[in-house]
Amino acid sequence: MIIINSIQQLKDHLNSLRGRNKTIGFVPTMGALHQGHISLINAAKTSCDVIVCSIFVNPTQFNDPADLEKYPRTLDADVEMLEKACCDIVFVPEVTEMYSAEELELKRQKVEDKSWTKGKKVDFGPLASVMEGAHRPGHFNGVAQVVSKLFRIVEPDKAYFGQKDFQQLAIIRSMVKQLEIPVEIIACPIMREPNGLAMSSRNERLTKEEREQAGLISKVLFKIKDLYKSKTVTELKAFAENEIKSAPQMQLEYIEIADAETLQPVSDFKQNKSVVVCIALKLGAVRLIDNVLLY
Ligand code: AMP
Repeated sequence: MIIINSIQQLKDHLNSLRGRNKTIGFVPTMGALHQGHISLINAAKTSCDVIVCSIFVNPTQFNDPADLEKYPRTLDADVEMLEKACCDIVFVPEVTEMYSAEELELKRQKVEDKSWTKGKKVDFGPLASVMEGAHRPGHFNGVAQVVSKLFRIVEPDKAYFGQKDFQQLAIIRSMVKQLEIPVEIIACPIMREPNGLAMSSRNERLTKEEREQAGLISKVLFKIKDLYKSKTVTELKAFAENEIKSAPQMQLEYIEIADAETLQPVSDFKQNKSVVVCIALKLGAVRLIDNVLLY
């Protein structure tokens, strides 16, 4: 496995591999890796010749500077995990390698930078105005900015994303379509701790008690999956709100039952081909998200 910090060096290396007809699978991450990330590497290995994993804590997708600062950074352990998982290339750029001074200044001034569209008209419409989009202003613009940059650098055949970030996946699919980037997006299932908690780099910041308590989140979501055929959307949301409210230290941000494609809230279970329940909450100081596909 090789570690590369420079964009040009990575491009040169990948060009030589492409010249030998190797297919490239790409797994973008922000590091502090866990088995959820490794499951993406494993999925990539089943159908690509060369696996590239990027580790980059992207400043432009954080709307809260304290969240960015506290984001766990564990590069040595990450490299060890990737080596064990037989990843081929780890791309670890500095912030200044990925962003120009102008782009960083726009971020500092909280101006939404659309230069990543390269003059094309890209509009995520209602996809970006609900749930994470509503609660984290500018977040998806930052995600699209960094993922489009990474796609232009790596030019992967396939890129792997977790369904843990369900809305992010929809945004990336939409971005790829609108920018006509020739990459296949592969969605991978959510990996969970034994108590059901969705694996997340942010779990590192939970205390032992909070981590145990956080098992409640997926229990509520799976209970909704059990109940949805006999209850209304309103009843199910009220059930989740009460469960979360009664848990000390948990502060619900949203619980939404939404069409799995458009991500717009549904009012019943009759009209939609596929429906997902999504949740975001704070446990102590840590913001957690999770979701379960109902059907
Ligand atoms: P992150 O490092 O949190 O930006 O995540 C990098 C990629 O790993 C994203 O595509 C996430 O959706 C995915 N991911 C994060 N947690 C999990 C999980 N528990 N199971 C599967 N994929 C995950």
